Amino acid sequence: MKIPLSEPDISEAEVEEVVSVLRSSRLSLGPKMEEFEASLCSYVDQPFGIAVSSGTTGLHLCIRALGIGPGDEVIVPSFTFIAAANAVLYEGATPVFVDIDPLSLNLDPDRVEKAISERTRAILVVHTFGIPAEMDAILELAERYCLKVIEDACEAIGATYHGRQVGSFGDAAVFAFYPNKQITTGEGGMVVTGDRNFAMQIRAMRNQGRYESDEWHQHSILGWNYRLSEINCALGCAQMRRIDDILSSRAAVARAYDEALSNVDGVERPPLQLAGREISWFVYVVRLAPRFSREDRDAVARMLIARGIGCGRYFAPIHSQPAYSHLPSVSLLTVTESVSSRTLALPFFNRLDKGRILQVAEALDEAVRSLER
Ligand SMILES: *Cc1c(COP(=O)(O)O)cnc(C)c1O
Repeated sequence: MKIPLSEPDISEAEVEEVVSVLRSSRLSLGPKMEEFEASLCSYVDQPFGIAVSSGTTGLHLCIRALGIGPGDEVIVPSFTFIAAANAVLYEGATPVFVDIDPLSLNLDPDRVEKAISERTRAILVVHTFGIPAEMDAILELAERYCLKVIEDACEAIGATYHGRQVGSFGDAAVFAFYPNKQITTGEGGMVVTGDRNFAMQIRAMRNQGRYESDEWHQHSILGWNYRLSEINCALGCAQMRRIDDILSSRAAVARAYDEALSNVDGVERPPLQLAGREISWFVYVVRLAPRFSREDRDAVARMLIARGIGCGRYFAPIHSQPAYSHLPSVSLLTVTESVSSRTLALPFFNRLDKGRILQVAEALDEAVRSLER
């Protein structure tokens, strides 16, 4: 790809941090993990942080530690990454898919309320594409119906809702550090929470079921190896030191796209701002106008790829994935269906310059025009 969809941004200082771990004798469960956990905690303003091997494993442990299992339902969006719903399935519980708001692309609180049953135990709310979800309404529902709230903040580190960091609202929250995320550790994730006992459970579960007071061959509960190595954590520590710069360069890329696409007919741009919320830019996802079909969108994607421009279908709804065909058919997810058939993620990363943004805009303009002929 001439212009890839995503590209990690690793500085020389970050390479040095990783190398210095390799020269040490501590490759797992060491000082870098503690430093990385502490830096996330202070950034999000939550007391407990537990580094894990991925965002997916972090979500799994949250479901597990909340005691959610067979017979229980968890409300999740279908318009998101599959890991959110998989975490529910891993524990034998049932994901209940709820439709989204067409502007923020996050769970629509009115529809969440309609989906609550006696079996509902939790709302897994995703801050999709780094746009903070409607937390006031979600928390109000959770309180009224005695539900737990897990924030999937894997796409949203640094986003704020009424001035507060996402990840600080729910009973627990999960961040992820895959290479296309705002901050990367190669692979990795972090659970944050304000609940000491919950944190202790998660800490034990990620480390083969050992509490911190247990010796190495004592396993008090069922656990997994979901640890994050010192090598990954060192990279995370260094990335966190420049998170403000990273987020502001991503916001600048989003603004440049907004301008470059403002005259492109048939392409709807994402909101640059929403009242009371600060977006943390994860991806830049446009939508073709409603007159276009899924086939049109796929044709545009093929034309861009043929010109060496990376792009992606963010997201193909979870409820229509083959892996989910065994679930009872879900209620109509009209907005999810309509949005997901027309979205297209454009190249988006820290160092994407204006010249290449203009090339993408031009190629997109030509591709959409060719549909109308
Ligand atoms: C990336 C992502 C995850 C999972 O993260 P991994 O680290 O890749 O396991 C979970 N939920 C959402 C919404 C994501 O975007």
